[in-house]
Amino acid sequence: MTLEDLRSDLGVAGLVEPDLEHGPNLTAAEARRLACNAAIIPIVLGSDSEVLDLGRTRRLFTPAQRKLIRVRDKRCRAKGCRVKPQWCEIHHLHPWRNGGSTDPDNGICLCAYHHRLIENPAYEHRRLPDGDLHITKRRT
Ligand SMILES: [Zn+2]
Repeated sequence: MTLEDLRSDLGVAGLVEPDLEHGPNLTAAEARRLACNAAIIPIVLGSDSEVLDLGRTRRLFTPAQRKLIRVRDKRCRAKGCRVKPQWCEIHHLHPWRNGGSTDPDNGICLCAYHHRLIENPAYEHRRLPDGDLHITKRRT
């Protein structure tokens, strides 16, 4: 599967199991979901099986990074939200699947409600000067 295919929904990925040369085929969306749930680092191969993308070394923030981000952010960073950091999830500001790094500078505390909102394509957001995210419904 090419990197473009993985990022779009056009590709088909293959599973290779230890005892089988080739496993069943998956859609790009299924491949992304499996990789996400298993914290697998995707290795993207070109048409001649050359490695195009080894992924970043980690998708998930480490416990130490999460602690640092929670201490720094002090609350959900959606504008006006006061949910305490221990109840927040850590969101990649620049999505990992699009090349974002798993560094504290790219992480932000968001409560589950605002995390779902920011991942919803019907909404858009922008960073305010104080670092908060202003999340609004997209105009149609
Ligand atoms: Zn919130």
